[in-house]
Amino acid sequence: MKKLIFPLLLSAPLLGLAQTAITSTDSTAARVMMGNYDPAAYAAATVINDPAIIAAELRSAISADSLHKWLDVLGSFQNRNTGSDTISAVRGIGAARRWIFSKFSEFSARNDNRLIPSYLQFDETICDITRHRNVFAVLPGTDTSDRSVILIEGHMDSRCVGLCDTTCVAKGMEDNGSGTALVMELARVMSKYSFKRTIVFVATTSEEQGLNGANAFAVYAQAHGIKIKGVLNNDVIGGVVCGHTSSPPSCPGFKQVDSTQVRLFSFGGFNSFHKGLSRFIKLEYKEMQLPFATVPMAISIMTAEDRTGRGGDHIPFRQKGFVAMRFTSANESGDANVSSTSYVDRQHTSSDSIGVDNDLNGSLDEYYVDFNYLSRNTLINANAAAMMALGPKTPDFTLSATPGTLNVNLTAETGYPQYRVGVRTTTNDWDSVYTFSGGSTTFNVPVAGTGNHIVSVASVDDKGVESLFSKELQTSVVAGFDLVPARKAPIELLQNAPNPADEATMITVLVNGHQAYKEAFLSIKDMNGREVRRMPVSLEEGVNEVIYDHGYNMSGIYIYSLVVDGKVIDSKRMTFTN
Ligand SMILES: [Zn+2]
Repeated sequence: MKKLIFPLLLSAPLLGLAQTAITSTDSTAARVMMGNYDPAAYAAATVINDPAIIAAELRSAISADSLHKWLDVLGSFQNRNTGSDTISAVRGIGAARRWIFSKFSEFSARNDNRLIPSYLQFDETICDITRHRNVFAVLPGTDTSDRSVILIEGHMDSRCVGLCDTTCVAKGMEDNGSGTALVMELARVMSKYSFKRTIVFVATTSEEQGLNGANAFAVYAQAHGIKIKGVLNNDVIGGVVCGHTSSPPSCPGFKQVDSTQVRLFSFGGFNSFHKGLSRFIKLEYKEMQLPFATVPMAISIMTAEDRTGRGGDHIPFRQKGFVAMRFTSANESGDANVSSTSYVDRQHTSSDSIGVDNDLNGSLDEYYVDFNYLSRNTLINANAAAMMALGPKTPDFTLSATPGTLNVNLTAETGYPQYRVGVRTTTNDWDSVYTFSGGSTTFNVPVAGTGNHIVSVASVDDKGVESLFSKELQTSVVAGFDLVPARKAPIELLQNAPNPADEATMITVLVNGHQAYKEAFLSIKDMNGREVRRMPVSLEEGVNEVIYDHGYNMSGIYIYSLVVDGKVIDSKRMTFTN
């Protein structure tokens, strides 16, 4: 996980400035990602494409032991720094990427040669190395009609305290051997099935020095018209032990363990497809896997795109216009502030190992990576990716409200047997998801509450699989018995979401119609009336959102007020908890 320092400078490559000669070493892999292929050439001898069967089989097929094995081998390369050895057969990033490629080939051979391994190569001077390779594998879809592809990715490069130190031990087991092992395990398990859409399994390089491998892939996809439907980035996804430090929103305290929660980070708030993807992942898990889970997982949809001051591979994809999100474990060992003399945690150090042999008897007696936790996160990924690769097309709709009711009117993709309507108010997640049988294109959704409601819609096909959810629309609902709908205020300050929040929250100002004004800002005050922050806000017609990054360890109630041209329009309370 890269530490953000003057992000614009470090991320010059993010602007695609320093990267050249981006190419796929296997041209077939490239053509398939572009949708130019004959699906019959990749047909499985035994076609398994039933979503219920796939979802059930994934539960037992994903193996904690297999994930452990991949991690052991990844650790054996000692140092997978972007600048490390590319020639050695046993040490360095070259050996690592060739090994991953060979495993992809092995998985392909076991599945009618349907998986196509390749490297995405690019030239750029990073850590004194001028040529770099992401390694990926393409599982062609059976239907090229919409040509969209799903990416499951994680960075394979590791680091110790020195950003380009290639001599230290840098096994990078939590960061990010865990995500790389997850990608490999899904290539092994999912290559057996026949999905409508193409799935691409990617292990990137050079994430630590600036998200460079992911940027090269995003630039390549954009340049070649590859329709990425969604990116599932997995980074620091296997550890369960909290460090002395961790990047906000932080974990609860040193040595605290959490092996039943995973965090989903994504950009934006209202009408963000990145948040929509995170909600879809959670819904599919809740409905298709949770009822069968021996250890249920809690999925948290975080407000911010990443932890404070941190970044990840999902960001270059989002910046290139692709829908992308990131999975990260609830607990991390360290905020990666390695330059601090008091830093004793494992992230970004030679101590990011698989475990420790405390009694020096030659066998590990404490594991830092929890393989069962990692396999649960692997299942959440597999389930979502499978449904994205099998599901119907996303509908479109218009929204209005009558007292106590949301009126949804479908305008596109109206022929599916069922539809889901997701409704949310004050959190990143849906309060409720309603199901409507098809035949009609208008749905009246009775809602209990009043005020602002945010709605999105998904299609459901005859196998019961949801599409990704549509754009979000919002409207204000008045109580059912209010005969005379209340007149909308020209400017509405909405309740922040999430509320209560732990570290960051989204404050939304709804502007009904054009507003002439000179200055508008949000004033945040503590309960003693002391202003702790002032944030300018624009009053464009419609939704105006501001992320308020409150910081950590400052629990309590705060008042936020919207001030326009010196006049307080409205104030609301918000609560922060640790
Ligand atoms: Zn990482």
